[in-house]
Amino acid sequence: MRLRHIRGAEEAIAESPYVIQEPETYRGRFAELFGNGNPLHIEVGMGKGRFLMELAKENPEINYIGIERYSSVLLRALQKREDMELSNIYFMRVDAKELADIFALGEVERIYLNFSDPWPKDRHAKRRLTSPEFMRVYDRILLQNGTVEFKTDNQELFDWSLASIPEAGWRIDAYTRDLHHSEMAAGNVMTEYEMKFSAMGNPICKLVASR
Ligand code: SAM
Repeated sequence: MRLRHIRGAEEAIAESPYVIQEPETYRGRFAELFGNGNPLHIEVGMGKGRFLMELAKENPEINYIGIERYSSVLLRALQKREDMELSNIYFMRVDAKELADIFALGEVERIYLNFSDPWPKDRHAKRRLTSPEFMRVYDRILLQNGTVEFKTDNQELFDWSLASIPEAGWRIDAYTRDLHHSEMAAGNVMTEYEMKFSAMGNPICKLVASR
């Protein structure tokens, strides 16, 4: 994701009705925010938010929260959000490290990780969103039968995740190294990065993990 400081981004986010301000104050009470007790699905590292907004449109009976740590990127999602009539999706500008302070134990039913930054250097492995450190965070906020769904075109990150997720005590329920030509393609919604990389001919990898 190309990052540029965009003037006014912080102000637009602070004033947006689509952004949850001070999200930790909703811990354990996100159902009140949505006005219903529907399942809650989140995307960590949402980027411009195409994927989650499409899902929200397709599944009005599910509540969605998109998490993005950079204001300049979140602003792009907000611009798109304004053109959509949706009542089941909000955004947060937070770092994924904070998720266990924001969501209560078991408050989330599904976590999507899409085209997460690969952090190729070994010394940065802890920053990968599929690292044991982050899987521990997800373990706290995810329902007992909840799932983590991860897509990437990065073969190294995918191989590493296939090994490190079970080491963190999780089970790989299903995976493919060519999502668009596999049984797992049913109902697939493409992200911005997925459209870009699959147009370049890169196969898309996907795994689903649970405990
Ligand atoms: N998911 C989108 C897609 O597939 O098109 C965007 C992918 S982009 C490569 C990764 C995004 O994750 C970036 O927007 C980045 O700012 C965000 N991100 C990375 N680490 C994060 C973290 N620790 N907390 C929140 N967002 C994060």
